[in-house]
Amino acid sequence: MEEKVAHAKELIEEAVRSYPKIAVACSFGKDSMVTVHLAREVAPEIKVFSIMTPYKPRETFEYLRKMNQVMNLGVTVYMVADSIPEILQDGSLEVVLLPTEEFHQKAAQVKAQTGKEIYAINPDECCRLLKVEPTKVAVSDLEAWICGLRNTEGRTREDYQEVERKGGLIKVNPILTFTETDIWKYMATRGIEPHPWYRRDYRSLGCEPCSHPGGELERDGRWQGTSKCGGECGIHTQRLK
Ligand code: SF4
Repeated sequence: MEEKVAHAKELIEEAVRSYPKIAVACSFGKDSMVTVHLAREVAPEIKVFSIMTPYKPRETFEYLRKMNQVMNLGVTVYMVADSIPEILQDGSLEVVLLPTEEFHQKAAQVKAQTGKEIYAINPDECCRLLKVEPTKVAVSDLEAWICGLRNTEGRTREDYQEVERKGGLIKVNPILTFTETDIWKYMATRGIEPHPWYRRDYRSLGCEPCSHPGGELERDGRWQGTSKCGGECGIHTQRLK
């Protein structure tokens, strides 16, 4: 595992040298925490941003707030919301609120037509509005971003590369070859506290209605019962710039 750690740091070093406008994305899941920890060891001042949605579990907001303080991340949160949730009202966090009109309109339309929530009927559109579009805003001034993608997480993640160019944006995936075991070993040896939901058998964390515990592959618990099951929200598949 330590060889993978050394390689990940080399990738981050090279990226930071090549692209001064760079930041790390952090969902506050286990892979993000390892990636952020590695990145801050290489570049202590590197920017960290997070895309949150109103459907994230309360424990994610609590964990975000706690780890932002513990690791002194100075994280910037982007979120489609009318106001900053009370739990995120913390002087060491910057929260960028993004317009809600389109989301409310689409969600209300789905509810009126089907009686169900947008995430149950059209998760792709829900993810586009709450995750993909906010990520576009977060990366708009960046040349490159660093992510916690791993090849063994799920069926859709086998073919990613350590460095990818999509449109006008470079993506660096320094922990691509880490296994789930490597992740837990890294967190244990570096004393990084995990999100509390991992104690409840979750293996991949997203929004509350779209995450379930267990699964053969880590991402099998995501979007269960929809065509998107075990798949992607879109930020790693769609062009962001
Ligand atoms: S994960 Fe679910 S609730 Fe969250 S943005 Fe996607 S569809 Fe919506």
